[in-house]
Amino acid sequence: MFKKIKRLFSKKEPFESLPPERISMLLDMLARTEPLEVSCDDVSTALAEFSEMHKRGEDVTHLMPLVHQHLGMCPECREEFEAVKAAIEAEQQLD
Ligand SMILES: [Zn+2]
Repeated sequence: MFKKIKRLFSKKEPFESLPPERISMLLDMLARTEPLEVSCDDVSTALAEFSEMHKRGEDVTHLMPLVHQHLGMCPECREEFEAVKAAIEAEQQLD
């Protein structure tokens, strides 16, 4: 990915002479190289909201894709998610 970008930049022509669609393609590529992963801390912060959404049957895969993705590959956060979910259910049973 980076090699490709470097190659685009290393051409002899100055950046300004690039056609606009080339520039927007380049920016798009750069945007995609941003890390798409969230940390356990981020997930932990979002977990309460995520669990509420999940509980309401909302499409968490779509609404919080990064959290959902993280839960899919991080057993620790998945455990925490189960705990939060259980807590929410217990809370509702008290009502
Ligand atoms: Zn995690």
